[in-house]
Amino acid sequence: MTVTYKHEPFTDFSKNENIQAMKEALEFVNSHLNKEYPLIIGGERITTSEKITSVNPANKAEVVGVVSKATKELAEKAMEQALEAFETWKLKKPEARAAILIRAAAILRRRKHEFSAYLIKEAGKPWSEADADTAEAIDFLEYYARQMLKLKDGVPVQSREGEQNSFSYIPLGAGIVISPFNFPLAIMAGTAAAAIVAGNTILLKPANSTPVVAAKFAELLLEAGLPAGVLNYIPGSGAEVGDYLVDHPKTRFISFTGSREVGCRIYERAAKVHSGQKWLKRVIAEMGGKDTVAVDKDADLDLAASAIVASAFGFSGQKCSAGSRAVVHQDIYDEVLEKAVALTKELKVGNPEDADSYMGPVIDQSAFKKIMSYIEIGKEEGRLMTGGEGDDTDGFFIQPTIFADIGEKDRLMQEEIFGPVVAFCKAKDFNHMLEIANNTDYGLTGALISNNRDHIERAKEEFHVGNLYFNRGCTGAIVGYQPFGGFNMSGTDSKAGGPDYLLLHMQAKTTSETF
Ligand code: NAP
Repeated sequence: MTVTYKHEPFTDFSKNENIQAMKEALEFVNSHLNKEYPLIIGGERITTSEKITSVNPANKAEVVGVVSKATKELAEKAMEQALEAFETWKLKKPEARAAILIRAAAILRRRKHEFSAYLIKEAGKPWSEADADTAEAIDFLEYYARQMLKLKDGVPVQSREGEQNSFSYIPLGAGIVISPFNFPLAIMAGTAAAAIVAGNTILLKPANSTPVVAAKFAELLLEAGLPAGVLNYIPGSGAEVGDYLVDHPKTRFISFTGSREVGCRIYERAAKVHSGQKWLKRVIAEMGGKDTVAVDKDADLDLAASAIVASAFGFSGQKCSAGSRAVVHQDIYDEVLEKAVALTKELKVGNPEDADSYMGPVIDQSAFKKIMSYIEIGKEEGRLMTGGEGDDTDGFFIQPTIFADIGEKDRLMQEEIFGPVVAFCKAKDFNHMLEIANNTDYGLTGALISNNRDHIERAKEEFHVGNLYFNRGCTGAIVGYQPFGGFNMSGTDSKAGGPDYLLLHMQAKTTSETF
């Protein structure tokens, strides 16, 4: 392991050898479709009669894999295994735990394109987005391993004469990790790896629409040397298994990433102390966003248009950091809008398996329906400038869509759509721009495009989001460089990929010996 952490470089798909490597990986995955994936509980592979069928969102007829589905009984068995494994895992040296993550990163790096190809198939990610997802998973493994080594001896505290004080961190216990569909590898792997390297054992419940890539990752961790029972892979219904485990008296912590609705439900349920429970559950909840790209009067307008388009339509707008609001100074509004519309019209929507598709499908039928219904709302609230159409005949495709002249309190400006739809809203001046930028319940990411130094400095103080960017888009945080997490209803601001993240999975212990 190199001492310094550096983020995994993205693959350059303008190079022939990389195009070839990805095509081969896709061929490999195409020849491994429709396979069965068991649960993994205490190292045992368990096949159930009830299944989750994972389909390719670009081609509904194609089954990516068939995954066994956990019941409450199996979730209970997984909890028992996690509790048992905790007794030995917590005693393992932090160096040994970190080494497993580093080894997992090395294996994942070697099989990078294979994992990206699964992301293309199962989540509908275009090549570059899939590659970034896999790179981020590698980053999380490498970064958290090193963070654990930094924390292993605790933090020095004062000792008076005749006493020896120490302050150190110990793990929490058995927890549950619940991950979303949109970064089915990176977020799933990152949240799992952080909990594990800190000395906890986990029950991993991935999103129902993307369980295959999670199964592959669970197997990879075992290959890297993770002892049985430390990670238990239990895909299942969020409502059934999720609620059961959130309420479970032996659950010590919950690490959730997903929607505001489910996050709030978990937060509330976890607060209740159940019979047999002897702790207050720790909840990490990273939730939705309604993120703004703001464009100042004094800005590079081409940069502004490309930042808006990339932030709105990367991975079909299905990022919590997606820029679904463009708040533009009135003096340059028409020009920025025109440029953004022109750029958007050039984007190719198509099968994500094709190297030149900029945007693939959205994840499933219910997302398709929800996004299309917001497009109807947009037609009432503003002017449709481009897009607005969807086709779910074979897969769930929606054209990148821009609405102009949306009111600052309109639904398109306030509610998370999670699809390729961006609302343009006019600001009278910079004060008004900041006011609009801060007027949602969320506070995840934001960007300001400006050449005005005073405005940049003011935004640093007043633009209330967890991740604020200048003169670039509002997506694409890098592990260890731009720790990620949001304010307000975007969640607990855990700052994944940041120096404090592992501490959320640990508790501090003070010892004091008198001589
Ligand atoms: P979701 O519908 O909330 O699902 C997230 C996870 O929660 C899934 O594994 C889901 O399982 C599970 N779940 C559902 N009901 C549950 C319950 N009652 N108890 C416990 N778990 C339950 O979110 P999504 O559609 O997968 O992801 C998109 C959302 O995630 C967006 O709102 C996005 O902004 C947010 N997100 C936030 C961040 C961040 O860092 N702030 C990052 C990525 C995504 P099923 O699949 O079985 O329903």
